Amino acid sequence: MNFYSPEVFISEEDIAIRVQTLGNAITKDFANEELVVICVLKGAFVFCSDLIKKINLPLRIEFLSASSYGDGTVSSGVLKMQMDVSCSLEGRNVLLVEDIVDTGLTISEIVKHIENHNPKSVRVASLLYKPEKLKHSVTIDYLAFEIEDRFVVGYGLDYAGRFRELPYLGVLNAGH
Ligand code: 5GP
Repeated sequence: MNFYSPEVFISEEDIAIRVQTLGNAITKDFANEELVVICVLKGAFVFCSDLIKKINLPLRIEFLSASSYGDGTVSSGVLKMQMDVSCSLEGRNVLLVEDIVDTGLTISEIVKHIENHNPKSVRVASLLYKPEKLKHSVTIDYLAFEIEDRFVVGYGLDYAGRFRELPYLGVLNAGH
């Protein structure tokens, strides 16, 4: 059997350094406060699970599932909400954790949705940001990496359901 491994784009070690830095910043910014961390499924689950271990605050984890992509590599431009948070966000500090901000459609729609719950604050943490593709106005408060416009997989991100388990961020070569 031929096991194909995408080429390393950002290594496991480099990701760990940035995750620690973001965790420190979040801990400092929310000192003496509680946080509701909302993991945007599915792509952010690995980033979120590493990030929360580096945040030294009382927190609650919630999950939200929304996507603007199908099985391909081009945005459909349609946001589908599949699963919502299960607790009240009223008067609470919310940290949305996203895998990648590409056109910005997904996260900008999710921020609007969360703001309707009257939270005390809403901040966004994203593993990746592709500035070349941005179409919707988004503030990323905690960003691990700004990248060029390449389709990346691994560390939670998939291509047609594959490669989420890779410990690094990789790029697919032609033919995959
Ligand atoms: P946006 O709504 O910002 O255009 O797209 C965000 C979503 O598109 C991400 O949550 C992710 O699911 C998907 N996406 C965008 N770029 C990539 C990429 O390079 N790799 C993967 N695997 N997904 C991507």
